[in-house]
Amino acid sequence: MKPAPFEYAAPTTLDEALSVLSRGDGDARPLAGGQSLVPMLNFRLGGPATLVDLNAIEELAFIEPTADGGLRIGAMTRQVALERDPSVRRAAPLLAEAAPSIAHAQIRTRGTVGGSLAHADPAAELPAVLLALGARVRIARRPRDGESDGRVERSLPLEDLYLGPFFTALEPDELLVEIAVPGLRPGEGTAFEELARRSGDYAIVGAAARVWLRADGACEEAAVSLINAGPTPCLLEDAAATLRGVSPTPERIEEAAVAAAEACEPAADMHGSEAYRRHLARLLTTRVLLRAVGRARERVA
Ligand SMILES: Cc1cc2nc3c(=O)[nH]c(=O)nc-3n(C[C@H](O)[C@H](O)[C@H](O)COP(=O)(O)OP(=O)(O)OC[C@H]3O[C@@H](n4cnc5c(N)ncnc54)[C@H](O)[C@@H]3O)c2cc1C
Repeated sequence: MKPAPFEYAAPTTLDEALSVLSRGDGDARPLAGGQSLVPMLNFRLGGPATLVDLNAIEELAFIEPTADGGLRIGAMTRQVALERDPSVRRAAPLLAEAAPSIAHAQIRTRGTVGGSLAHADPAAELPAVLLALGARVRIARRPRDGESDGRVERSLPLEDLYLGPFFTALEPDELLVEIAVPGLRPGEGTAFEELARRSGDYAIVGAAARVWLRADGACEEAAVSLINAGPTPCLLEDAAATLRGVSPTPERIEEAAVAAAEACEPAADMHGSEAYRRHLARLLTTRVLLRAVGRARERVA
């Protein structure tokens, strides 16, 4: 099928793109890598009056190290850059570890980091991984009636972006412009693992973990997120709470994994029952926590 007719805008600056969106009466839609949006348009799952192509906006495609050892990632950064850029491997090795599991190389070459976050697919790798890393998103729009001139911006913890399946807190006149990833501290380790039927397929279930150990070996902070195990990308707070303040022994890690498997809300489909997905949630949470703790121990100051 072909998409319904639409107007096409190809701005070259962020301000131009925000202006087109603000004039769109809620019916203009950003086009990033097009790897999710174009198939949806072809199936006529939604038909915006205007497509605002972000691909010529160079100021949205960047990866920049920050003073705290973290990263600023522009929304139009291609997913493939996460696996190739040495600053990502240094500052956020979890991103570099997970990126090759996103679809196929051809799709990662076009698909963007911002597009994946804004699409809000609970089966996508990047939302879960960036949740585990404690990332924030910067969002911009043009002023609305009664507001003074200039760009209006807000910054949200990534978890506040997700309101439901494929549904975010982004307003139709807003663009996700940047992702801020905190730096990895001494004593902090991360890990990622997923199970997919074939390389390049969406995960049946996946897990990401971040663990921060104090010098005495106890866990100061932990974060666990699951892929394709609930209606939205989400953190498993019960699992993380099991580890905070205690030594992350294999027994404690198993407790955390049980908590994750109980708290998640997987749905059955042709690739696996709910029980099978809970089993995978437990298994993969155990594995990523064990690896993250091992890596954290190597980095304790
Ligand atoms: C065959 C196939 C397999 C795939 N497998 C996987 C997989 O295993 N894992 C995975 O994570 N993904 C997978 N994908 C999806 C792929 O990663 C997409 O690239 C991604 O979901 C969307 O990114 P995009 O840049 O292509 O966004 P687009 O498709 O252009 O846009 C997606 C949505 O986000 C909105 N949007 C885009 N950018 C912004 C922005 N800056 N601000 C506000 N809204 C914005 C768009 O309006 C649209 O609603 C697959 C895709 C295909 C075609």
